[in-house]
Amino acid sequence: MLGVPLWRDPVGSAAARFARERERMVEEQLVRRGITDARVLDAMRKIPRHLFVEEALRDRAYGDYPLPIGEGQTISQPYIVGIMTQLLRLTGSEKVLEIGTGSGYQTAVLAELARRVCSVERIPSLAARARATLEAMGYTNVWVRMADGTFGWPDEAPFDRILVSAAAPSLPQPLFHQLVEGGRMVLPVGDALSQALTVVERVGGEMLTTVDAGCVFVKLIGKYGWEG
Ligand code: SAH
Repeated sequence: MLGVPLWRDPVGSAAARFARERERMVEEQLVRRGITDARVLDAMRKIPRHLFVEEALRDRAYGDYPLPIGEGQTISQPYIVGIMTQLLRLTGSEKVLEIGTGSGYQTAVLAELARRVCSVERIPSLAARARATLEAMGYTNVWVRMADGTFGWPDEAPFDRILVSAAAPSLPQPLFHQLVEGGRMVLPVGDALSQALTVVERVGGEMLTTVDAGCVFVKLIGKYGWEG
């Protein structure tokens, strides 16, 4: 086979190694555990997750665990990103609200699968970094705002889908009101130590709630979340 020897192309070889790690992450952590939405799998196969963590952690970016991103916060475990995104049932036309931008990795997954993503982060340095990372990757359908996301994003409401990436003690009411009729929201609800992934559908103005897997998230801190 013709080709450039790997030792002559260190940048290319790192990219190829990360691509192989991504492929393995998708097979071992997502497919094997029952993630079946092909669009979710494709997005996570494509997005360079290692660019959402600091350089010293890049070699661990595709591991089966969350990683620190500074300010006491974490980038979610790949499986959690996969299952939450699958539970949203995105088709490509949706306007999505995300609460808890963090590293921006989940935001990128949503940007690949929806029409437009509005993401809210309460910690200024994280919001700024995520914005820069997403911009550098060329996403033009993402807006990141620094605010208490438990209020939602009233100026941009309503939303077809809402995803909350931090643990809520209960469903923040403003978020439900910013969901369209027929819309879906996915959020971890529980106490500080463990939560249940909860799916909320708005049907006839009523709230239909179902519970999926158990999970552990950092706290949603704000007016309709935990006290800071
Ligand atoms: N999906 C992100 C998860 C980051 S951890 C990732 O994988 O990188 C959860 C994030 O929610 C943290 O960055 C935290 O600062 C943020 N957060 C907590 N409470 C919030 C609130 N009320 N509004 C907006 N962001 C909040």
